[in-house]
Amino acid sequence: MRAQLPVDSAAAGTTEAALRSVAVLSGVGPALAAVLERLGLTTLQDLWFHLPLRYEDRTRITPIRDLRPGDSAQVEGVIEAIEKGFRYRPQLRVAIGDASRQTLLLRFFHFNNAQVNQLAVGTRLRCYGEVRHGVQGLEMVHPQYQRLAADAASGVEERLTPVYPTTEGLGQKRLAGLIERALGQLPADEMLELIPGKLRKVHKLSSLRAALLYVHRPPPDADLASLALGAHPAQQRLAFEELLTQHLSLKRLRQRLRAHTAPALHGDGGLRTRFLAALPFALTRAQQRVATEAVRDLAQPQPMLRLIQGDVGSGKTVVAAIAALAAVESGYQVALMAPTELLAEQHFRNFQRWMTPLGVDVVWLAGKLKGKARTAALAALAKSAQIAIGTHALMQEGVAFRHLGLVVIDEQHRFGVHQRLALRDKGRAPHQAARGRDTEVERQPTTDAFGLGRVPHQLVLTATPIPRTLAMTAYADLDVSVLDELPPGRTPVTTVAIANARRAEVVERIRAACAGGRQAYWVCTLIEESEQLQAQAAEAVHAELIAALPGLRIDIIHGRMKPVAKQAAMAQFESGATALLVATTVIEVGVDVPNASLMIVENAERLGLAQLHQLRGRVGRGSAASSCVLLYQMPLSALARQRLDVLRETNDGFRIAEKDLELRGPGEVLGTRQTGQLALRIADLARDAHLLPAVQRAGALMLRDHPDLVERLIVRWIGQATNYAGA
Ligand code: ADP
Ligand code: MG
Repeated sequence: MRAQLPVDSAAAGTTEAALRSVAVLSGVGPALAAVLERLGLTTLQDLWFHLPLRYEDRTRITPIRDLRPGDSAQVEGVIEAIEKGFRYRPQLRVAIGDASRQTLLLRFFHFNNAQVNQLAVGTRLRCYGEVRHGVQGLEMVHPQYQRLAADAASGVEERLTPVYPTTEGLGQKRLAGLIERALGQLPADEMLELIPGKLRKVHKLSSLRAALLYVHRPPPDADLASLALGAHPAQQRLAFEELLTQHLSLKRLRQRLRAHTAPALHGDGGLRTRFLAALPFALTRAQQRVATEAVRDLAQPQPMLRLIQGDVGSGKTVVAAIAALAAVESGYQVALMAPTELLAEQHFRNFQRWMTPLGVDVVWLAGKLKGKARTAALAALAKSAQIAIGTHALMQEGVAFRHLGLVVIDEQHRFGVHQRLALRDKGRAPHQAARGRDTEVERQPTTDAFGLGRVPHQLVLTATPIPRTLAMTAYADLDVSVLDELPPGRTPVTTVAIANARRAEVVERIRAACAGGRQAYWVCTLIEESEQLQAQAAEAVHAELIAALPGLRIDIIHGRMKPVAKQAAMAQFESGATALLVATTVIEVGVDVPNASLMIVENAERLGLAQLHQLRGRVGRGSAASSCVLLYQMPLSALARQRLDVLRETNDGFRIAEKDLELRGPGEVLGTRQTGQLALRIADLARDAHLLPAVQRAGALMLRDHPDLVERLIVRWIGQATNYAGA
């Protein structure tokens, strides 16, 4: 791909320098090149954009007297005492003193004899490390140090020392040296810039060359505090370019997707009218608006790419049903996917209830469906079935649709950005999607149902509201509709946090609620993902509550139970036969029992805000005043305390999402930390959110006027890692 980059613009010369291999640098042989590649560094440009994580100030020597705990500092002193000892584990203690007549203790836990032999009383050392409180005063643990000749003049670094992200087998010094050499080949300003001058002027962006040189070689008088915060104009210049590139890469993905055609689904609205007439409630205004938006998109011959954000309980399912009916009316099929079997089952029941009276055929398909049932479901999909509901196995297991017109993905945050793209691929016309294990799809004769390049429309539902700032960047490939209104008659959930020591009071609350004819959930959570441990914890609590609440019908549901048993447990609870349901987080999403008005969440201090908000959303669905008890174990960390406070203060999913972003950072919020998507090098979505409106404006202009530069920005910042070539 790099070889094919256009070389017709002013920046042609750069392209060549930028894309030259790291191997052109002296001292880089195959072994080092391999190590660099592990860091994603293959070209000179990669080295230019390998930015420091932080800086160390070795431009001066701090007198020991002036050290403060928490500081990172460089000190110089003479060894006054040295002691090799064993206190719990081997350790080496070295005391140094300086002209300020104070002593600093250096403490090492990993050391060898050669090292010890080099350190004798009277040796002069220069150290760099973090100062902390020790038993006998200030100390540094494992400082970096070097021995100095006794009479050497104390030369110091002229600039702040950048600290780079690195990997095993590549020390800081060596990497910094390579970057220094690569910077020596940094071309002149106009050769390096990929943002057109006009835009740089409008957005007051300094020269890229100056910005890069500044962050790699900050002068001694640089404002270390602003650099540490990433707020320095040079860093902001780079952050702007990085965010712009992220935005452009998603926009370009969207353009590619929109370049496909999709079936234009113009229903006559007949099924929709009958569906709405049969619903026991009227749509909220928000539902009407969002449904209209989706139906309008479906009538277009380009694929709809729409995200519906709506807080827990805002009624997204009904909107999805309306969109589905528009597809069905036009003779196309719909696939509805949910992240868990439990949620998929609930959708299946709802859709059956809604669709069967309308004569619409709904089919169930999940990974666990085997044998004859599966064959029958597959046969139905290839023929008459109109709506298929299941987990995402629906799209993975050689399922062939006759006329797939719409894919609905529910509770998208559980899937993550990468999976969303993968699912989108699965949902497209089989002749394109077929890769790897999906060969069965390839053989199906469904291809002719689509014209070349046809893909289904996509509707994504999420109950985790994404802060606007994030949505603009992370979901730039989607249109966003917001269900910003809850159905009428809901009473906000009152939330309290109670220490586990007061568990007995909580049990009393359950007794009272159930005596009043209400139902309750008790959710057992563990930090471990293990379903088995979760199940064990739930079983223990189940037994405990049965003993504490005789006469109450108490049931249990967890991930280790057979699907039939789970279904039975849910059905019993929905019918009201069960008063208290002990559950694991399998009930996190989607479960909808309006008569349940009390929720207990155990170990609430271990869960994230989004998850707690989801769980709490299981109550407050009826007209009765509901409450949520967050049971926590002491001691409570400051962060956990903050999370619980946020939940006590608000029921507003958007505010909670903003807080979540603040407390956890965007990688976690978007569920992309593991996938490395949106692994930003310098920008920070929370910190740099103020740049986003400008980024959006600049992005629109670049897509229109400079598509060649867009490609090159993407190679520069994202490289080949994000390969949307198949999009
Ligand atoms: P979510 O957005 O969390 O997926 P659901 O679609 O599960 O919400 O809807 C939650 C509950 O609200 C369901 O019981 C649903 O039938 C009900 N509901 C949806 N829309 C309305 C409405 N306009 N008026 C009253 N109840 C509604
Ligand atoms: Mg839902």
